[in-house]
Amino acid sequence: MSHDEHTPFRENIPAYALGALDAQDAAALESHLQTCASCRTDLAGYRAVGDHLLTALPPRNPPAALRRRLQSRLPSAQKAIRPRLNWSISRVAVGAMFTLLLALNVNSVLQVSALQLQQAELTRQIQTSQTVLALLSYPNTQNLPIHANDANVAGTLLLDMDRNIATLIVWNMPQLQEDQTYQIWLIDPHGNRTNAGIFRPDLGQPFTTASILSTGNLSDYIGIGVTVEPTGGSDQPTGPRIVSVDF
Ligand SMILES: [Zn+2]
Repeated sequence: MSHDEHTPFRENIPAYALGALDAQDAAALESHLQTCASCRTDLAGYRAVGDHLLTALPPRNPPAALRRRLQSRLPSAQKAIRPRLNWSISRVAVGAMFTLLLALNVNSVLQVSALQLQQAELTRQIQTSQTVLALLSYPNTQNLPIHANDANVAGTLLLDMDRNIATLIVWNMPQLQEDQTYQIWLIDPHGNRTNAGIFRPDLGQPFTTASILSTGNLSDYIGIGVTVEPTGGSDQPTGPRIVSVDF
């Protein structure tokens, strides 16, 4: 076989050794290899060199300068360097907008929460006011004076025994600490105290209205007392009594 006949096959041997030759050329080469010892030797040589290169060379870290130079040529590194200024500006803008939106959102949530609390308090005040009007319009409603140690504190208990409704109206109730509440107690003839609701002084007006919440008959009791208690109320009175009413 002449040198020229080998040439197209020889050129394909390195690619074949790497498994990179397409199927048609590979089939032709394999056919040629069966008849040509010279090309088989070439192939064996390329395979040996390839295996040797993969296994015999110890892994080495490139010098730092070379490594940096190579890294700077990577597409990702170039992208990061070139548009850096634009990126920074837009990122700052997006960040600022995000922060602003977040702040607005938190503010809205806080405002909604505050409004919900105000609405609940206003609803309670309106219901109590309507109860007061209803009590005043009922002929059998009793108008009982309150007793208080503080001379500035004055008011009335509107009591309707027929309908089992009572509402306290007190002027100049002292303001409480944040962690305090007023608690109403129904007092029976044996001196037992039963919880009848908690309230805080109404904001923005000099008087406070509070409904007496009773599961039993108000006629079973001889009066009420109002004490200062921790927020949420107590099982039994623990704080000073501010107001009392005798039925
Ligand atoms: Zn050959």
